Amino acid sequence: MAPRIGFIGLGIMGKPMARNLVRAGFTVTVHNRSRAKVEELVQDGASRAASPREAASAADIVITMLPNSPDVELVALGDGGIKDAARPGQLFIDMSTINPIVSQKIAKELAPLGVAMVDAPVSGGEKGAIDGTLSIMAGGAPEDFERALPVFNALGKTITHMGPIGAGGFTKLANQIIVAVNLTAIGEALVFGAKAGVDPQKMIRALAGGLAGSKCLDQKSEKILSGDFAPGFKIDLHFKDLNLIQDAARSVGVPIPTAAFVEQLFSALRVRGRGGLDHSGVITLFEDLAGVQVRKTQASA
Ligand code: NAP
Repeated sequence: MAPRIGFIGLGIMGKPMARNLVRAGFTVTVHNRSRAKVEELVQDGASRAASPREAASAADIVITMLPNSPDVELVALGDGGIKDAARPGQLFIDMSTINPIVSQKIAKELAPLGVAMVDAPVSGGEKGAIDGTLSIMAGGAPEDFERALPVFNALGKTITHMGPIGAGGFTKLANQIIVAVNLTAIGEALVFGAKAGVDPQKMIRALAGGLAGSKCLDQKSEKILSGDFAPGFKIDLHFKDLNLIQDAARSVGVPIPTAAFVEQLFSALRVRGRGGLDHSGVITLFEDLAGVQVRKTQASA
């Protein structure tokens, strides 16, 4: 019989993910802090739960998709949380981006109750969540990963078992280092060229075809050329991840000078009130420094 799912956290990512599980034929009970999103999912065929405990008590597999480490700790271990409904044989899958050291701690607290945990953060954004094409990076015991696989297949396309609990989170944070540093380098480079009088559109085309090409350049150049930085993935959320990276790196004793520097640039963006912009908006900081706006230097502008 298909496992019954409890799904907690119906935000930008969680709502379409829970919807895809309903569409795949799973019995899904949903909970969210604000109620309106729960009612939307009930319209789609899910059942409602008034608390994380209620969502977990009706479930064989409990999934969370929440903002940050303290939110997952609260929902998993706090009063009225998943732990209060724990039954031997249950599986807890956290798909949020959190500190992997916290994932390991939660797994340790749930294990004596017979509840196994898999940490399975995702990449692919809102579009990937809606289309069911997320890249899922999972950490946990092999047998628990196998149990989670039917659920993952309904949510994503690239599904990788990275290793034991926490390995998913470390991989996702590595992903966030690469993306933040890449977007920062793209911003600096395009402002450099634009100030020197090179057409940014031509520059992007040439760069994309060589070693400097990247998915970041492919997917974000439209925003950079239009100057429309509606998110996407917000600077605020990437700043949260850059801080998680520093916490996790400290825990395992790894220097991360480049990510630490980029975290300061994202901090400066937030000070300027730009935390709500797409993370490709990091270029605006370099535009301020150089006194030039890339979008205004295009040959067609
Ligand atoms: P979001 O839109 O802020 O959604 C978070 C949801 O969690 C909200 O609906 C919120 O409810 C709910 N929530 C918070 N605390 C709760 C609690 N104690 N009990 C029940 N529900 C609670 O965030 P998101 O963009 O979906 O991101 C979720 C996670 O995925 C984050 O860790 C993020 O870094 C990661 N991620 C995001 C993206 C992306 O493109 N957005 C891509 C990959 C990974 P309210 O309605 O009350 O606020």
